[in-house]
Amino acid sequence: MRVGIGGFRHETNSFSNVVTTIDRFQDLNYEFGQELIDHNTGGVRTPLGGFIDEAAVLGIELAPTFYANATPSGHITPETLKILTSNLVDNMWWQHTRSPLDAIALTLHGAGVSDLSDDIEGYLLEALRERFGNAIPIGVTLDLHANVTKKMVALSDVLMGVKCYPHVDEYENARALLHHLYDHVVNNVPVYQSHVPLPWLLAPGAGVTLSGPAHDVQQLTIRLEAENPELLQATFFHGFPYADISQACVTVVTVAKTQEAADAVASEIAQYAWGRREAFMPVCLSPAEAVDKALEFAKGPIVINESSDNPGGGAPGDGTHLLRELLERNLPDTAFGGFWDPAVVQQAIEAGVGSKITCNLGAKADNLHGEPILLKDAYVKTISDGTYVTKSPMGAGKFTTLGPSVLLQAGNVKIGVSTSRRQTLDCNAFEILGVDYRDMHILGLKSSQHFKAWWTDRAEIVSCDPPGIHCSNLSVFEFKNANTSYFPLQDAQWNI
Ligand SMILES: [Zn+2]
Repeated sequence: MRVGIGGFRHETNSFSNVVTTIDRFQDLNYEFGQELIDHNTGGVRTPLGGFIDEAAVLGIELAPTFYANATPSGHITPETLKILTSNLVDNMWWQHTRSPLDAIALTLHGAGVSDLSDDIEGYLLEALRERFGNAIPIGVTLDLHANVTKKMVALSDVLMGVKCYPHVDEYENARALLHHLYDHVVNNVPVYQSHVPLPWLLAPGAGVTLSGPAHDVQQLTIRLEAENPELLQATFFHGFPYADISQACVTVVTVAKTQEAADAVASEIAQYAWGRREAFMPVCLSPAEAVDKALEFAKGPIVINESSDNPGGGAPGDGTHLLRELLERNLPDTAFGGFWDPAVVQQAIEAGVGSKITCNLGAKADNLHGEPILLKDAYVKTISDGTYVTKSPMGAGKFTTLGPSVLLQAGNVKIGVSTSRRQTLDCNAFEILGVDYRDMHILGLKSSQHFKAWWTDRAEIVSCDPPGIHCSNLSVFEFKNANTSYFPLQDAQWNI
């Protein structure tokens, strides 16, 4: 069996003022052919790593094509979507002409928006179907925050999302997808999909699956997969409300050997989740409330995450609400990691290690994330190239970078400032600048839930959620396209 693999991933935040152009992909992941294999071989816990390892077990020949990924940001330009699509479709077709493909396996996100199409995954699948026709099976792994559209379901054969938030199961999910495609092609196992959208916008800040209602729904999907021999997979997609499209919502997607089984399970999960919707209410502390709560712990380290300015969800990463509070408190052994401000990094590098700089830090990307902080005589402690190998279970082993970065010392607060917008998943944002998190009492960082995959066993955690474009309070957003009659904006009704 020969399977073409590839994909492109973007989580689009419609409220970001950063236009997503092709160079944003080229700056992060933009790979062709054998590079897909080389960068994900050897136990790298990425979706492509999952395809590679499962193919080795099943004796599948992989035909690598094109993969691109960019940090979440605003709408993708039409030209960029056309380039990404033609890169993937043309390379997939080239592989097919070399030796016919039996299936296509893609890793996509599911919440990509372009001014050319508000459903970039549906757009890609349409382009593949135009080139390949309907006979070839197409399987897709999606992020749990996918806004799954009717077109995505109609144009794919096996569509499945990760079940965990933090997304620690992307590798296993990709392996499962390839296995289902193998069973379908080699063992003639039929596949039928069911798709149930719910009138519900769910903020990521309320969706962690380590505990609480999202955990309960996740466990139901896992139990049903184990108990029902007809069922191949069931995913409860949280959706991504900051992608302001008409089809943004929570969905359930199932794949089964019969349409009846797929429909029955999707209905059961949707009804259970809808019944629990009131429990998915996020706790939104201010930075001051979060610091007060952090000080109630007998010992540290205590991580305070700024959920509303999560670069992993398209926010700028230069919001000053939490950092300002930490500077004003000036508590001993405080550090902030992964703060984005290229201009300040440049200024500090030019000044050099051991010098002092005065600068306006942060809040430059827009006027939604606080005011710039005037730092006087901040000491330039460290300069780093920003490169590291991911430690978090999310993408462990993957080489990546925060770009040139500096550590500034302002009073008791150490501030790690970087040139690349990245969500802080593990201790690398601190370690690359010489800060051992175990020596710190309070650690500030920008993430909503993903950081918990690594930090939960190593620190106490308190979340704050001041104003920002990744804020959990959805009532503050001016949606243009999303359905504002949905829960929790309105008391929506739903019956299957
Ligand atoms: Zn996600």
